[in-house]
Amino acid sequence: ASLLQRFQSTLVIAEHNNETLTPITLNTISAAKRLGGEVSCLVAGTSCDKVAQELSKVQGVAKVLVAQHDVYKGFLAEELTPLILETHKKFNYTHICAGASAFGKNLIPRVAGKLDVAPVSDIIEIQAPDIFVRTIYAGNILCTVQCDEAIKVFTVRGTSFEAAPTSGGSASLEKLTPPPPVGLSEWIEQKLTKSDRPELTSAKVVVSGGRGLKSGENFKLLYDLADQLHAAVGASRAAVDAGFVPNDMQVGQTGKIVAP
Ligand SMILES: Cc1cc2nc3c(=O)[nH]c(=O)nc-3n(C[C@H](O)[C@H](O)[C@H](O)COP(=O)(O)OP(=O)(O)OC[C@H]3O[C@@H](n4cnc5c(N)ncnc54)[C@H](O)[C@@H]3O)c2cc1C
Repeated sequence: ASLLQRFQSTLVIAEHNNETLTPITLNTISAAKRLGGEVSCLVAGTSCDKVAQELSKVQGVAKVLVAQHDVYKGFLAEELTPLILETHKKFNYTHICAGASAFGKNLIPRVAGKLDVAPVSDIIEIQAPDIFVRTIYAGNILCTVQCDEAIKVFTVRGTSFEAAPTSGGSASLEKLTPPPPVGLSEWIEQKLTKSDRPELTSAKVVVSGGRGLKSGENFKLLYDLADQLHAAVGASRAAVDAGFVPNDMQVGQTGKIVAP
């Protein structure tokens, strides 16, 4: 197995906002390290030098590949995919992965499709470079899959792997030339909910409300409690469906995965 692991090389697609790295990238790097081979990270953005620097210090990352272009505004899968394919052509990875977030779930299936391989989604454990554990039926069954594809393309459930330490690493930085824009889609705008509370998916404490709260106004009780506990606030689907709170607060199978 160790001989096999020596020949692994993994590309982690970094998720970020051009300013900071999204925490799930660090969990994904830990998963990539479990594969045993060299770990490279691809940072694509409009102006992401800061993120590349941040990544180069993460333990276990050997190389940070940076591609900057206006076309990566909004991190569209249509534009990122050709870049990933070009990068793969150059370095010939055995594994390509990203976090199982909205970003990764949007991107990785497209990459796998273009490579003509079946992706493995939402892995929670790596047993061998080709054997992954993933959940099915809303987490009621754990499924161990052996992936026979030449290139393993997968998404990683962030809450199942520790975050890689953000200091102590010394990765080399390499600039990539972005391939020509595809122009299939265009990023127009995004409206982000601003909150001083911890982010739901990575919060250590979560206070969640359900239908019993009876109205959106009553969620104020939870916000006050959460602020005392430095907690994030979540909601059940029933509360979201009833219109008490927006659906980005929903926890669960059709909502966000939390690991307090
Ligand atoms: C395919 C599928 C996917 C789903 N995905 C999700 C998901 O991702 N996330 C999710 O949350 N749900 C999901 N659901 C729905 C889930 O099955 C439950 O129906 C839902 O979570 C119940 O929410 P609740 O506990 O808020 O509501 P309820 O089950 O209605 O519970 C409310 C509770 O509050 C109590 N209560 C009411 N008034 C008061 C009061 N004044 N004081 C004290 N207690 C009171 C009630 O007695 C009851 O026990 C999904 C369902 C399906 C079919």
